[in-house]
Order: sequence, then structure tokens, then C-alpha cells
Amino acid sequence: MAHIAIVGGGIGGLPTAYELRHLLPREHQVTLVSDRSKFTFIPSLPWVAFDMTPLENVQLEIEPLLKWRGIDWVDGKVTHLDPEAKTLVAGDRTLNYDYLVIATGASLNTDAIPGLGPDNGYTHSVCNPHHAEMAREAWLKFEENPGPLVVGAVPGASCMGPAYEFALLADYVLRKRGLRDRVPITFITPEPYAGQLGIGGMANSGKLVTELFKMKQIEWVENAAVTEISPEDVCLSDGRRFPFKYSMLLPPFVGAQFLRDVPGLTDAKGFVPVLPTYRHPELPSIYTVGIASQLAPPEKTAVPLGVPKTGQMTESMGMAVAHNIARDLGVIKSAPVKPALEAICMADFGDTGIIFIAQPVVPDNKTRTRRRSIAKRGIWVSWIKIAFERFFMAKMQNGLGVPWFEKLGLNLLGIRLVEPLSEAERLEEMTHGSGSRPSGSRFGVAREPLQNS
Ligand SMILES: Cc1cc2nc3c(=O)[nH]c(=O)nc-3n(C[C@H](O)[C@H](O)[C@H](O)COP(=O)(O)OP(=O)(O)OC[C@H]3O[C@@H](n4cnc5c(N)ncnc54)[C@H](O)[C@@H]3O)c2cc1C
Repeated sequence: MAHIAIVGGGIGGLPTAYELRHLLPREHQVTLVSDRSKFTFIPSLPWVAFDMTPLENVQLEIEPLLKWRGIDWVDGKVTHLDPEAKTLVAGDRTLNYDYLVIATGASLNTDAIPGLGPDNGYTHSVCNPHHAEMAREAWLKFEENPGPLVVGAVPGASCMGPAYEFALLADYVLRKRGLRDRVPITFITPEPYAGQLGIGGMANSGKLVTELFKMKQIEWVENAAVTEISPEDVCLSDGRRFPFKYSMLLPPFVGAQFLRDVPGLTDAKGFVPVLPTYRHPELPSIYTVGIASQLAPPEKTAVPLGVPKTGQMTESMGMAVAHNIARDLGVIKSAPVKPALEAICMADFGDTGIIFIAQPVVPDNKTRTRRRSIAKRGIWVSWIKIAFERFFMAKMQNGLGVPWFEKLGLNLLGIRLVEPLSEAERLEEMTHGSGSRPSGSRFGVAREPLQNS
């Protein structure tokens, strides 16, 4: 009997737990550990910040979801991991594991820039439920006494989509309230050009977003390196200052503290390196899914920028990891798989939206091309995004990872979740499977800091 512990009850962790339970016979124990008792559908948090949906609508209490499904639940923050002893500490409990799936998402490096909020600074964020609630309360006050709005991201940020959503949703909400003429909006981005998105752009993404900005009278500043934020303005490295009454700036993401505390486990930012199967290169019992995993940006940019790990990429990592663990345990016989990292991603702007289909999200690093990339705009995107939120919540409510009908739908659209390893990748896995550790680091994975993230 094996014990599989999954840390993090979010978009990566919960579906992975469901998929593992689906694949593994009951003699194997599956435990989900999370520091929040509720699952949150993070992509809907910009709507929460504008009071367009209550937070409760996009949350589910985790414990009752697991109770009848044979998945154990530990409500606690993991503070210590010992990969050699295969133990982790959550609250006052120490858990032993045979396999560990790290799905801890993003920790926010708000110390990166003086004045970056919201906890100890002046800007808002929509990256977690608590911050989205803070952003909402401040937004309602801002509507009573509006002024300049500054939206965007600071150097090292990696998930630009929500910043675009926030700026364009703000325009939509302010127009509806008759306040738009009192709120100049400026979008500040570390991207080399608007619509680059941390992935070297995609189809006509640059044209689509800049057309929208022009149409909606939103000024934008590219290659912007925010260096400091005061209570009144955002300061860039070239000395330009942008006054604000309300500001939402996405912070850089880093890995969870307990991961960074283990010497040699992660890269300089706390992201966990992975082999094609999403197994750790030196620790065969550790797999990682979602934002916690390491993914190098496709190109170097003048201002540092990370690469986004979207919801669908995260789900495909979870599906691959569950398959590969079931295979390690001899439960399934087929070959190991890797996540295809293809994704459909929707951004809602209230009266319109943009859908991106990227196959894969990060272009091939030799040819710098993708198999397919599409970006389309229309009000129908907003409707699909609302429907998708409900679909995802229903899946989580009903204990489904990626059900067969979703796989079928994605297949019909030509989108893969997982795929076989190439010959070179199989070799890479075998080389690391030996567990040999180069000298100089405890697990031999203390790689160079990622150049650009
Ligand atoms: C504002 C915003 C909007 C987005 N919009 C979209 C979108 O429209 N479409 C899209 O495809 N993607 C979107 N994304 C990306 C998407 O949300 C992520 O891909 C997804 O949430 C990643 O899943 P995850 O499991 O890695 O992290 P999460 O979903 O954040 O889950 C991580 C979990 O781990 C828990 N945790 C962290 N540390 C510990 C610890 N020490 N101990 C125990 N538990 C811990 C956290 O509490 C959390 O429950 C958006 C992201 C953001 C921030």
C-alpha cells in the first residue's frame, strides 16, 4: 500500500486528488493537505474585486467534497518538508508519504518593490481570495471618490492575463456607473509590448489588446520597471511617476516558503524543477503541478517577466502526474506521459473578451513556433467564461478531475491534455532515475537562477 500526499487544495491539487482516487485501488491512501479549508476558482477573482460576483460563489468547502470519496483531508499549512525521511509537517501533524504531489500555487513576493501591497503597501492584488476581498472593499470606496487608476504588473510578474482583465473590466464597470470620465486609466506592464503575455506573444494578441486599449481610452506603458510605490503614485526606473487613487499591480510569484527552505529542492525563485513526467529530477517520490513547477520563459526580455501557468496547463500537469504515479505503482501498464501544456484561456472584459488557444502555450524553444495559436475577440467569450466557471465548480463539487466528456470536447477541438514522451525525454527520465546526485547540493538540483523570471 502506498500513501500519496498532495499539498495544496487549488486548481492543481483538488483535480489531481480526484484523478488519483479514480485511478488507484482503495488499498492506496490519498491525502489532500491545504492551508485553506475552501477551494477557490482563482480565475474569477477579478469579478469578485469589482463586486460582480460574491466570493462564496467561487468557493467550495473542501472537507465534505472528500469525505465520501475515500480521500483523507488535513486542514493545515505545511511548514516543513524532509524529502529524505519522506515526511511533512502540517500544523501539529507529521505525515509520512510514499509519493508527494506539490500543488501549492503562488506565494506573492510583495517585498520585491517598496510600497507593493496590499498587506504592507498601497496597491491591490487579485491573486488570492483574501486580496480580492480587500480589493473589492477598496474599489467600492473608490467609486464614491474616484480618481486616476493605475493597473498592471511589476517586474518579475508572470500571469499578465488578470492585469488586462482588471484594466478593461474597470473601464466597463466605470462606464456603467457613469464615472469613466473621472477616471484616467493607465496600464503599466513589464512586457516588451502589450499582449506579449510572458510567452512571446501569440497570434494577433498584441494587436487585439492595443486596439481595445485605444477604443477604451486606456493609456499603456510597455517595458515598465516599477521601482517604488508611494501612497500617491507609482514610480518607474526612468523616473516617470503615475499618480493613482486606486492601483492594482500584480506581484511576482515565488514558491512556498517550506519548499524554499529545503536546500537544493527548488530554483532561486522557489519553483520546483521537473522532468517531462513532472517528477523531480533527483527525488523520484516528488511530483509537482501548477504554478509551483518550474517553467522557463521562452525569451529574454529587457524587464524580467515570468511565464504564466494557466488553469488548463495546471490540470494537464495533474492528469499526467496521476497517470505517472499510478504507473509507478504498477496499477496501469501504459507508458509514462507528459502534460501537453496546450491551453484555451479566456479573458473577460465585461462587454467583450478575448479567447486564446495556444498549442502549446510556450513556443518550441528551437523553432520558436507553435502547432496552432488563435486569438479572437467577442462578447461571446464573456459568456463562455461565465459558463466555464460554473462547469469547473460543478466538476469539483462532483469529484471529477477531467471527465471523459471534457476530454472528448477538447479532442474534437484538437487540444491534447497529455502526450507520450519522445525518445530523448525517455532517456532524460532514465538518466535521472538513477538517483545519482552531483556534488555541491543536497539533491543536486541547485540550478542557476532562472535567467528571466
Ligand atoms: C487573478 C488570477 C486570474 C487568473 N485567471 C485565469 C484564467 O482566466 N484562465 C486560466 O486558465 N488561468 C488563470 N489563472 C491561473 C490559474 O489560476 C492557475 O493556473 C491555477 O490557480 C494554478 O493552480 P495551482 O494549484 O498551482 O494554484 P492554486 O489554485 O492557487 O492552489 C494552490 C493551493 O495551495 C495552497 N497552499 C499554498 N501553500 C500551502 C502550504 N504551505 N500548505 C498547504 N497548502 C498550501 C493554497 O492555499 C491554495 O489552496 C489566473 C490566476 C490569477 C492569479
